[in-house]
Amino acid sequence: MNLSKYTAVIGLEVHAQLLTESKIFAADSTAYGSAPNTNVSAITLAHPGTLPKLNQKVVALAVRMGLACHSQIARFMIFDRKNYFYPDLPKGYQLTQDRTPICKGGYVSIKLDGVEKKVQLNRIHLEEDAGKSMHVEGTDETFVDFNRAGVPLIEIVTDPVIRSSAEAYAFLTEVRKLVRYLDVCDGNMEEGSLRCDANVSVMLKDAIEFGKKVEIKNMNSIRNVQRAIDAEIERQIGLLEQGVAIVSETRLFNADTGATYSMRTKEELNDYRYFPDPDLSPVEISEHWLDEIRLSMPALPEELIQKFTTHYKLPFYDAEVLTDTKDIAQYFEEVCKHVSNYKAVSNWIMGPVKSAMNELTLTANEFPVSAVTLAELIQLVESGKISFSVASQRILPELLKNVGTSPLEVAQQLNVLQSSDEDSILPVIDSVVADFPDKVQEYKRGKKGILAMFMGEVMKRSKGKADPKVANQLLLKKLDEK
Ligand code: ADP
Ligand code: MG
Repeated sequence: MNLSKYTAVIGLEVHAQLLTESKIFAADSTAYGSAPNTNVSAITLAHPGTLPKLNQKVVALAVRMGLACHSQIARFMIFDRKNYFYPDLPKGYQLTQDRTPICKGGYVSIKLDGVEKKVQLNRIHLEEDAGKSMHVEGTDETFVDFNRAGVPLIEIVTDPVIRSSAEAYAFLTEVRKLVRYLDVCDGNMEEGSLRCDANVSVMLKDAIEFGKKVEIKNMNSIRNVQRAIDAEIERQIGLLEQGVAIVSETRLFNADTGATYSMRTKEELNDYRYFPDPDLSPVEISEHWLDEIRLSMPALPEELIQKFTTHYKLPFYDAEVLTDTKDIAQYFEEVCKHVSNYKAVSNWIMGPVKSAMNELTLTANEFPVSAVTLAELIQLVESGKISFSVASQRILPELLKNVGTSPLEVAQQLNVLQSSDEDSILPVIDSVVADFPDKVQEYKRGKKGILAMFMGEVMKRSKGKADPKVANQLLLKKLDEK
């Protein structure tokens, strides 16, 4: 198949569930995993006479995301009814924003192979989620759980500017990072709090017009979005090569087979008859409120990477790893308040600390060793009192088991404190040199490799407690005197 003749065009629609306790237009809980139909007030169920009331926090969260994406924030907006009939939609319409999305334009920066690209956004709008139909296997019954109906969402819509599945992957990774930094959404794709639909078309490289697009749904991980796009590009090119026209349709991705299959064609184009909801008053965002939200914004990854490479003088790679989550970045900065060798702190966190977190499946927030304690441990290594390997392999595990103990105490208990004071190391060196006169001669004749054997003997006799740097210097001096 001649893939290189074609260009892929991709636009993503990302739904993120906003981190609020209650729904967008009702006081019902948004808790995930509640028993079916327990978070359903009369408003959620659209009983006659009930009226929606906007949850102020959803507006603030959407604005936070918009500011992080450099979007233009609407100062005046309304909600629209999107009319369609479906069993999981109690009102018979979904409240969404058609003509006045809360955020317009903006972009999210991604980096691929060191090259930066700004993925342009079309809009970010607010809307309510629908309920969930459940088909019970072995029966022909369908049940409906309305807990999710009315849960607040933002929908982030990109322009058709993405050109490969790898770019889509990078974009979604960045969006997930952003919503988590901002506490806008928990970013959990498995539980469906972050969902992505991918619009895919292909066209000949020199074509002026885009091809017909196909929308793919039902991917539960970023990796599967990438796989679905790749499969779809290949399928479409296969058809075009055979002279078959692409039809606009919605397809689902099957993660087991790695293929997409048709759900419905878009021929039966839905007319949603959007119109402004008369039950909700328009929303105005005042200058004062906007400023308040602006001031509450945390430092974002881009800004932190800048700070980590300049202020802390870390390599770009370190800065990227350490800003992966807000927790890790904060932990790093906390430790740096007590240790002056920032690169050592970075090595510690990217190395033994991260592997311990992975092993225990803990986030930096849940990590039992406090920043102050880790700083003490690093200081012990930096000042030559213990070796790095003893610190990472013997002391850190103890600190993880016994929360609140001090690294120095543990080192004393394990009897691993090194001595860097010359008076205690010199006698050991004297005895080693005295016991191996032949080896001293060999060394004098130029067999410098013998030094390792002397060092080994010194460490053995000091029971590993001599500071290797100091011992090495003293040993060299002693041998030169001979
Ligand atoms: P619709 O009217 O079908 O909803 P929109 O213009 O609103 O289409 O776009 C929906 C999404 O599809 C956006 O993310 C947009 O970037 C993307 N999109 C639009 N046209 C194409 C195309 N030809 N190929 C791929 N994606 C596209
Ligand atoms: Mg659309």
